[in-house]
Amino acid sequence: MNIILLGPPGAGKGTQAQILMEERGMVQLSTGDMLRAARTSGTEMGKRVAEVMDRGELVTDEIVIGLIREQLEKGSEGGFIFDGFPRTLAQADALGALLDETGETLDRVIELSVNDEVLVDRIVNRAKEAVAAGGTARADDNAESLKIRLMEYYKKTSPLIGYYYAKGKLVRVDGLGEIEAVRGEIAAIVD
Ligand code: ADP
Repeated sequence: MNIILLGPPGAGKGTQAQILMEERGMVQLSTGDMLRAARTSGTEMGKRVAEVMDRGELVTDEIVIGLIREQLEKGSEGGFIFDGFPRTLAQADALGALLDETGETLDRVIELSVNDEVLVDRIVNRAKEAVAAGGTARADDNAESLKIRLMEYYKKTSPLIGYYYAKGKLVRVDGLGEIEAVRGEIAAIVD
């Protein structure tokens, strides 16, 4: 079973991906996490990525497709959860081609739907909690970058809802529910 978790920043994709990994042995492929790892590598690519991410913009398709390709080649018995990828139509096409090459299929695209006010609250809280716990907030978890991340989502990523609907893959889940309720809805889809 290979699935995509689709939804704006703060919709809860990472939380649900974590649960799916623990409960089902699926492998989460989060391009956000991969890029955060790349930016600490000290390479030229890492530096460029850091600047783009902190502004809240999308990094190039080429970079993220390369990251995903490397991981897909490793395979996963329990299946993959694509979290934060694809984010553009070009990435979606590339994912289709990569899965074809490895003989895999994309089973479901789960859209976590939420409204913008909730997103802003969640992200601002995530930043506050990180600081309260003695850590630091993600550099892109601030109001300015969030506005840009949301705009990027609506301009570049939300067309994927129609794209996967047309392919008969889309299932919508109400992302506003409690974590446990969302987990249950997703479990019913994945089972
Ligand atoms: P969130 O879901 O909270 O926006 P992510 O961790 O998924 O956070 O992504 C953080 C940032 O990493 C994005 O704002 C973007 O700059 C970059 N990024 C992650 N995934 C992609 C992708 N598939 N394509 C382009 N940029 C990406």
